[in-house]
Amino acid sequence: MPWALLSFSSNDLMSLIKPTRDYGNKVFPFSVSSRYLITMTSRIPGFYKLPPNERLKAVAEQVAVGSEEISQVERGLVLDQAEKMVENVIGMFQVPLGIATNFVIDGQEVLIPMATEEPSVIAAASNGARMARGGGGFLTSSTGPVMRAQIQATGIDDPFAARQAILLHKDELMAMANELDPMLVKYGGGVKDIEVYVIDSRLGPMVVTHLIVDCRDAMGANAVNTMAEALAPRIEQIAGGRVYLRIISNLADLRLARAKAVFRAEDIGGPEVVDGIILAAELAVVDPYRAATHNKGIMNGVTAVVLATGNDTRAVEAGAHSYASRTGRYMSLTRYERNRDGDLVGTIELPVAVGLVGGATRVHPVAKTAVKILAVKSADDLSRKIAAVGLCQNFAALRALASEGIQRGHMSLHARNVAVQAGAKCDLIELVAARMAAERRINVDRAAELIRELEDRGQEGV
Ligand code: NAD
Repeated sequence: MPWALLSFSSNDLMSLIKPTRDYGNKVFPFSVSSRYLITMTSRIPGFYKLPPNERLKAVAEQVAVGSEEISQVERGLVLDQAEKMVENVIGMFQVPLGIATNFVIDGQEVLIPMATEEPSVIAAASNGARMARGGGGFLTSSTGPVMRAQIQATGIDDPFAARQAILLHKDELMAMANELDPMLVKYGGGVKDIEVYVIDSRLGPMVVTHLIVDCRDAMGANAVNTMAEALAPRIEQIAGGRVYLRIISNLADLRLARAKAVFRAEDIGGPEVVDGIILAAELAVVDPYRAATHNKGIMNGVTAVVLATGNDTRAVEAGAHSYASRTGRYMSLTRYERNRDGDLVGTIELPVAVGLVGGATRVHPVAKTAVKILAVKSADDLSRKIAAVGLCQNFAALRALASEGIQRGHMSLHARNVAVQAGAKCDLIELVAARMAAERRINVDRAAELIRELEDRGQEGV
């Protein structure tokens, strides 16, 4: 059974572990201080064959969830709780919650709770994660939990002078905003910087102030919106215009999460599959029609974890898709390369604005248990795990596409050989092979039958 660390942030982890090989490529083996070792694994053989209650028990055996949390998952959200979440409640809309197994993220074995209505997503994630284990699993990094709020000032004659005036008052504005959220500041967050942009529009120039806010363990929309609203009158005074919008930007380009994995060629079907995945993924870099579907596959994993943890799926999706368009052309959020060993290296980078406090995260009982199952210690940690799931989901989909394509190629080659063996000549070779491949019945007897059938038909036609 693999050994893993539970209940430590990746920083704690990094201070405890000493990779014995290049950390950039391999996670195992590590030398780890034995007093921190507990046996936890995300590999649970036969998990998919268990009934749901047995699966829940198997998860509880691996992670720190107690009987109360188990019953919370079994009970789900109740009407009283729902009444406090949104308006005009009439009932509940349920979505299945499953567990993706096999994940190793930053050297930690992790079970991934996923809320999704789409079949095959959880199985594909588990399968992809299993194939990533040989290369050490997923390694992640991030830029930290920093969001932007925008304050739009209009009707300004001298927008560049207004911009400089706002920047001159930067310290005063930052202090004003931070006074509004002492709790956030206490945890090390708050406004860290102010940027000001002059943006031309059909309706004249706009002076747009960005508050750069470290949101720590909050997703931060309410927090930064409150700050932006409070600063608006002062910005009007300084800039001399009229402020309209004061709201968070969901293009969270300062809150990027990244993940990388090495999929060993022998673990994923060989060099042809590596080639197939690289070629398939490249189309998503250069063609927006393919990129949309490619990124949708990434979001199959990302959104499922965002939803399971009670976070705002629309915010994360808006962030992902706007980030995918940042060059002016919509493109893939992942990249695939072949390394010197001939293995496949996958990487992902996307904004993941999620929290562990605020919103539904601490209200929804199932979300609270999902966070426990993930054993995340911070919102940043959660965002990095979500990025790893996005990469894994994308890899699994690409592999299925690439290997099925290869499989089809192999089948038609095989079918042609069988047709020749059965005596087909010239055009009949292709016709017989195509029919056998379509029927998935490739053998000499069937080929001989088809040859007779097609020759008879040909003679009738003469
Ligand atoms: P929130 O206001 O409920 O919680 C954030 C607050 O929690 C912080 O301001 C801070 O005071 C406090 N806090 C306590 N412990 C903290 C810690 N360790 N780290 C950070 N803060 C801590 O929620 P929020 O995260 O500001 O907003 C999230 C909600 O806003 C979501 O429900 C989202 O759907 C909603 N929302 C989103 C948008 C958008 O994305 N465009 C717009 C409006 C609202």
